[in-house]
Amino acid sequence: MIYLIGNWKMAPEKNTQVADLIKKTNDIAKLYKKTLTTIVCPPAIFLPTAIKGAKVPLLIGAQGVAASDAVAQTGLMSAAMLKDTKAQYVIIGHSEMRARGDSNATVKEQLTRLCEKKLLPIVCIGEKSRDAQGWYLSEVKEQLETIFTGLTPLQAKKVIIAYEPVWAIGAKAERAATPAECREMTIFIKKFLTDLYDEKTAKAVVIVYGGSADEFNAKSFIEEGGAQGFLVGRVSLDAKRFGLLAKSIS
Ligand code: PEP
Repeated sequence: MIYLIGNWKMAPEKNTQVADLIKKTNDIAKLYKKTLTTIVCPPAIFLPTAIKGAKVPLLIGAQGVAASDAVAQTGLMSAAMLKDTKAQYVIIGHSEMRARGDSNATVKEQLTRLCEKKLLPIVCIGEKSRDAQGWYLSEVKEQLETIFTGLTPLQAKKVIIAYEPVWAIGAKAERAATPAECREMTIFIKKFLTDLYDEKTAKAVVIVYGGSADEFNAKSFIEEGGAQGFLVGRVSLDAKRFGLLAKSIS
């Protein structure tokens, strides 16, 4: 199965737009259900609308979770609250969250809260920039060590890793990463997991690519880049383009 995950970020603005976009995304998920697992992650305030509108096989995820269950955290949401909405997945570690202050240690605490509530984590990792000597690999290794240290093989197998090179994300991206750059990283991640666990566990961990993937370049990230799917931002808010992306990789 290839994973197609839409991160709606802080859009759209209205419940009616959410209902409409879910309806269109339902059709995409159904059309490509033999090859794709489609998940969309709307803003938390719209989770009830999204979950009400989602039809099998479309799955719904959330964006972010509090690192601790302490009540005195204005503006945050606990894993228990997200569980109660019936969302199944939660994105953590996104570079936009890290830019707002989430450290590797915070991401680990959030991951622990998700594991406690049996919510499925989509954990974003990725280097801020690249250098010719390959030091960026140690940045990614540190992220991987924080995420997986202490996780049982069973818990590890449920993690979806979204490799998102920060320099390749969003409208202000330096440039798109190449499938070869993605391939290097998927091998690096699988090697890390094989060393920490074993080959079987490493194979079970899904690695998706995020970094401004679209309907034109996605196929090459699967065929040459070793990606097992995508985490996309802007394209997931445009049902026509999301459908074309699904078609291109299905
Ligand atoms: C992201 O921020 O996770 C992302 C991949 O965004 P976009 O697809 O909009 O570049």
